[in-house]
Amino acid sequence: MVNEKRSSASDPGYRLAPFLPRPDRRGRFGAYGGRYVPETLIPALKRLEADFKSAWKDPAFQKEYRRLMHEFAGRPTSLYFAERLSSHWRRGRIYLKREDLNHTGSHKLNNTLGQILLAVRGGKKRVIAETGAGQHGVATATVAARFGLECDVYMGKIDVERQAPNVARMKLLGARVIPVESGAQTLKDATNEAIRDWVARVDDTFYVIGSVVGPHPYPFMVRQFQRVIGEEARTQFKQQIGRLPNLLVACVGGGSNALGFFTAFMKDKSVRMLGVEAAGCGLHSGKHAASLSAGRVGILHGSAGYLLQSNDGQITVPQSISAGLDYPGVGPEHSYLKDSRRVTYTSVTDDEALAAFTALSELEGILPALESAHALAAVRKLPARRTTNQIIGVCLSGRGDKDLATVMEAAESGGGGKSRNKS
Ligand SMILES: *Cc1c(COP(=O)(O)O)cnc(C)c1O
Repeated sequence: MVNEKRSSASDPGYRLAPFLPRPDRRGRFGAYGGRYVPETLIPALKRLEADFKSAWKDPAFQKEYRRLMHEFAGRPTSLYFAERLSSHWRRGRIYLKREDLNHTGSHKLNNTLGQILLAVRGGKKRVIAETGAGQHGVATATVAARFGLECDVYMGKIDVERQAPNVARMKLLGARVIPVESGAQTLKDATNEAIRDWVARVDDTFYVIGSVVGPHPYPFMVRQFQRVIGEEARTQFKQQIGRLPNLLVACVGGGSNALGFFTAFMKDKSVRMLGVEAAGCGLHSGKHAASLSAGRVGILHGSAGYLLQSNDGQITVPQSISAGLDYPGVGPEHSYLKDSRRVTYTSVTDDEALAAFTALSELEGILPALESAHALAAVRKLPARRTTNQIIGVCLSGRGDKDLATVMEAAESGGGGKSRNKS
């Protein structure tokens, strides 16, 4: 929870660690990040870093990226005042950054579009991706189709079964979905397989990673491709209400929509930030996905950061009703931001997220993704206020269509967020 006493606009109550506009030469945000990968991948990662840097400052690349974000993805997404939700909850005036209106229904496309433009620029004919809920897989397959690239998506066998609509979408877009049968057969295992594929075919294949995780330069590159969210929002706040918000809230799986939303405001000391992890059945139950709130530092998928692990260092199986937050690690920059206290991190349970899902649906006519419902639920948990001068920006990272089966099932088992009874 945000400590209201400690933070005020003029005196945050603690010294902020400096904002790092980029990681250091070794690809680290403070003690986190790096490049813990098989030796055969080091040259490819170094080349990717150089390619990204030159593309990012090339006006022709920027122009093409911005053009597609506008014409293909439908950006800019709107900043919407959730008037009824605000007066119902009395936490402040809530503004939603509508990433649910982006093509394919979430912020994921901002990143896949950027990375696949890089792949095309580098002459690659094949892309691969890992996916959990299938959102990143669909966003990758979408852009691969747009550019006529071969696309293979690794997905845990259990996820293939429980995310059937997204598997169908990927196939219709011309991608191959490869079910992964190792380990817990979910996202972590799919990522292992994708890395293995990349080691074997690094010369002709571009690996499109779906969040601000993995070895350097991915966490930095993905953040750069997502920062458009906050850049748009910052301009929109100024235009629509003539000032910056007091608080920004976003859910954190790997952490890409949160960093995309926060980055443009990092230097605005009056803007507080809250990252929201999935507490699943509750932090004390052990069944959750809250790496920052309840994990310890370790190495996963090529970089160092907070992780869910057992006492002897084995990665433990995360749990959340929201497949997009169901990951045992988190991006290295979030690990740094937690230690530096520039961003506060909290967590909300499945039930709290379901209640927020219901509230937004019924009060605003917007079905949010279950991931995004976590960010909303954290707003609900803030202290109530008598005045309405507190401005809260929430990143509505995606739409809820993909979650209908999950939400209906929860409602039938006695919940829908109201009085959910787990037995
Ligand atoms: C994938 C996903 C997330 C979680 O990923 P981040 O990298 O933490 O943003 C959140 N919301 C939606 C809608 C997603 O699809």
